[in-house]
Amino acid sequence: MTAAETLPRWPGDSRAACAFTFDLDAETLWMARGVHEPVTLSQGRFGPVEALPRILAMLEKAEVRASFFIPAWVASHYPEAVRAIAKAGHEVGCHGDEHERVSDLDPKQEEAILTKSLETLTPLCGRRPVGWRAPAWQLSACSLDLAAKHGFEYSSNMMDRLVPYRHPEAHGRALVEIPVSWVLDDAPFFMFTGQRSIQAPGPVLQGWLTEFDGITEAHGVTNFTFHPQIIGRPSRLACLREVLDHVKHTPRVWTAPLAEIAAHWRNTQQP
Ligand SMILES: [Zn+2]
Repeated sequence: MTAAETLPRWPGDSRAACAFTFDLDAETLWMARGVHEPVTLSQGRFGPVEALPRILAMLEKAEVRASFFIPAWVASHYPEAVRAIAKAGHEVGCHGDEHERVSDLDPKQEEAILTKSLETLTPLCGRRPVGWRAPAWQLSACSLDLAAKHGFEYSSNMMDRLVPYRHPEAHGRALVEIPVSWVLDDAPFFMFTGQRSIQAPGPVLQGWLTEFDGITEAHGVTNFTFHPQIIGRPSRLACLREVLDHVKHTPRVWTAPLAEIAAHWRNTQQP
């Protein structure tokens, strides 16, 4: 087998893929940490109320369709936000109920949350979500089995590859994994919990662009993970705009929602 035969195959003449994903955690990001203090929670509310409309406008201008992962609690409290996301042609995926860490739950609780999440999001988006991302990217021993059982197409949680891959088959379905990375996430750099200082946007932007260039050279998938409440501050929205520009001006990169990347991977029967 030659090296070329082992390279991932992307649509048309694309050499790599890129996805813009947003975890609309709102207040649940803080509730899951046991915080119920109003000012801290208001940082979460900034996401759906103030940041989301600006992000949607920016994506529309860039002609990029993204994936939004939304906890059921957030969908129930901000149904108009979910409708606006779906109406703009973006994908909506499941992301727990109150951003609980499924690694702390027993399998029955975890399955109940998965079911609730599907029942809450499906009518708001007009279609059943096919993607699942665990809150805080922490899985239990049965998470992937439950996702397969409930008909999901893909998981976007693992950090072991630069390319998608298939999980072992369970319930007659091999979930496609579209890997993520903390380095492509805004929270480790910008989320302020009172314990360390906030990083300046410029160096973080430079890191993201270099990471994207490297993954593109490796023919992989760059899976950006942003949080509207974090990336939505004006100084960071400027970063997002630069990232969108850079990706759009890089030749032969396929930008798509994760659902389409997963479907491509499955349809082209890549391992
Ligand atoms: Zn989250």
